[in-house]
Amino acid sequence: MKATCELCFHRCALDEGQTGLCRARSNRGGEVVPINYGKIVSLALDPIEKKPLRRFHGGSTILSVVSFGCNLRCPFCQNHEISMAGDGELRAEELSPDALAALAEELKPRGGIGAAYTYNEPLIGYEYVRDCADAVHARGMVNVLVTNGTIAEAPWRALLQRIDAANIDLKGFTDAWYRRLGGDLETVKRSITLAAERCHIEVTTLLIPGENDGEDEIRALSRWLAGIRPDIPLHLSRFFPRYRMTDRPPTDVEAVYRLADVAREALAYVYTGNC
Ligand code: SF4
Repeated sequence: MKATCELCFHRCALDEGQTGLCRARSNRGGEVVPINYGKIVSLALDPIEKKPLRRFHGGSTILSVVSFGCNLRCPFCQNHEISMAGDGELRAEELSPDALAALAEELKPRGGIGAAYTYNEPLIGYEYVRDCADAVHARGMVNVLVTNGTIAEAPWRALLQRIDAANIDLKGFTDAWYRRLGGDLETVKRSITLAAERCHIEVTTLLIPGENDGEDEIRALSRWLAGIRPDIPLHLSRFFPRYRMTDRPPTDVEAVYRLADVAREALAYVYTGNC
């Protein structure tokens, strides 16, 4: 029996046994299930600033939890080995939500404050993030989400009740650019707006030379963000040639600084990454 996944705007219509575009959700017996549930390809204790979060529990650490798959197709993906992988293509360990929360708690003496769902797109493993977030909260710790913000409104609203901080990618500010990435700008804008009502958020834009690094685009992006709240931190990060975009040099450092000044016309906190 065919089943449609409603988790993101792709709305993949799946035949029995078929896996969606994100490679993490599949039709099993007429029901869409997350096949990456509890399958962890990497765990690491990271400084919170690496997420990046610069105005949330500074100096602390967080347990980064990584699975596989993604619902976008960015040609410049900096984590493509995990984001483009499917089930069985990477060595994965099973970790239950309770085991994950217990591990996060063990890391308290090393500055650990909770768990961060990150590196691949965590929202496609929605049920795992939801269950882990409950287990982490039950132990009095925090949940951090690092995401592309590509999710339908209802599940996003439900998840946000469990999230303490998020860094959301805003990969540019034109519909055409988002279309090239297999995404949808309006969806991401809605996700940022809703998250800003519920939890601490910071936003990251990776500057791709010749694509999304025009002054007008960054000015429009930062003004829109300031319209939600001018104290939302914006991270402007340097691109390095990776995956399917090796035809151009890394973002010029001076250009990053110049665009950061443009963003500061509207926003109180603008950070430059990888400079
Ligand atoms: S979450 Fe995955 S399976 Fe579901 S609609 Fe989006 S891309 Fe398709």
